[in-house]
Amino acid sequence: MHEYTIVMSMLDLCEKHAKGKEIDKLVLKIGKMSGIEPHFLQDSFDIFKENTICQNASIEINVIDITITCQDCKKEAKVDAFNFFCPHCKSGNTKVLTGEEMHIDYIKLKE
Ligand SMILES: [Zn+2]
Repeated sequence: MHEYTIVMSMLDLCEKHAKGKEIDKLVLKIGKMSGIEPHFLQDSFDIFKENTICQNASIEINVIDITITCQDCKKEAKVDAFNFFCPHCKSGNTKVLTGEEMHIDYIKLKE
């Protein structure tokens, strides 16, 4: 399971970041095209956080929309997954700007 691996590396990262303190909250950014299901990630986190420094931590997931930039008309647009044509000029000559990423936005430590 993909989400399991992500949670494990997240917990690892928290461990390094916290330096012995407890984690209060984790805020993540997940692109709609990242292939990660936010609720699976949430469930995995709740299971695997037991007995780690994240055991009392909550997780907040911000889903990032897919945006593209058009190489022809130079405009940016929000698109649905698997439709990468520019809505302005119908060009297929576009590049994905956001939506593929998955990263930790910030880690809040307990005081
Ligand atoms: Zn265009």
